[in-house]
Amino acid sequence: MSDERIDLHTHSTASDGTSSPQKLVQQAGAAGLQVIALTDHDTTAGWDAAAKALPPGLSLVRGAEVSCVHDGISLHLLAYLFDPQEPDLSAALDGLRRSRVGRAQEMAGKLEAAGTGVTWDRVRELAAGAVGRPHLARALVEQGHVASIAEAFTSEWIGTSGRFWVGLAEIEAVEAVRMITAAGGAAVFAHARASTRGRTVDDSVIAALAAAGLVGVEVDHVDHDERARVALTGLAADLDLVVTGGSDFHGSAKQVRLGAHGTAPAAFERLVAAASGVSVVAA
Ligand code: AMP
Ligand code: ZN
Ligand code: FE
Ligand code: FE
Repeated sequence: MSDERIDLHTHSTASDGTSSPQKLVQQAGAAGLQVIALTDHDTTAGWDAAAKALPPGLSLVRGAEVSCVHDGISLHLLAYLFDPQEPDLSAALDGLRRSRVGRAQEMAGKLEAAGTGVTWDRVRELAAGAVGRPHLARALVEQGHVASIAEAFTSEWIGTSGRFWVGLAEIEAVEAVRMITAAGGAAVFAHARASTRGRTVDDSVIAALAAAGLVGVEVDHVDHDERARVALTGLAADLDLVVTGGSDFHGSAKQVRLGAHGTAPAAFERLVAAASGVSVVAA
């Protein structure tokens, strides 16, 4: 089994992907994947639909990508196989989704006030689940201001700290690792060295997260160059962290294809063994 058959990072229309959870698992089956993790931003809303639609031969890891912050730097934690009913984590995810709505509404308001033709009503129509900047980007594409979603992520538009950008009220990363772990989940640091997305944290922060219960670091990711991969692999060995990978598939909202990046079978087994909230679903 090649690594690319275990894709541990994908998004559906439950957040800012363009494939419904049902379509996502069908696409994953057609692409020959053996394991897919559904990791929508700050929500578990796609879990049941994905599980029901699983094609033969594909297993589903139920997860989420949690919006976090540490010392003013935004970072993402992939949370796998946690109990979605656990009160503290589910309240934290609720709060993140509420913050997503408030800040998207604010960004839409600024865009509307600037005469772009983007409206909150339209953004809300485009977002079937947890709303994010890609939905605002789609509205900007529709209005002809940018040619692609990626082009909206600049200082001119809704790129981080950009003209129309409003920050999200993220949760503190060490606290998030503790909550995910307490909910029976396994926490993995997503795209930790993706410097094109903004500032990244030092190794000492990853060590602090590891001390709080972090299980792994995502190494095989489209935004990591060879240098980032080598550095993170070394750090993972030092801290005894599992090395994972995933495509961060967002359907047509991004270029990367399902299974473009993956996780080694032994690493996947370690990750599953570390979690106790919910099980892996097999068709
Ligand atoms: P948000 O979580 O609402 O702040 O939006 C962040 C999301 O925007 C990421 O998860 C990506 O899906 C998307 N994104 C960020 N940067 C880019 C980019 N340069 N091109 C396309 N999508 C992007
Ligand atoms: Zn996204
Ligand atoms: Fe992310
Ligand atoms: Fe992601």
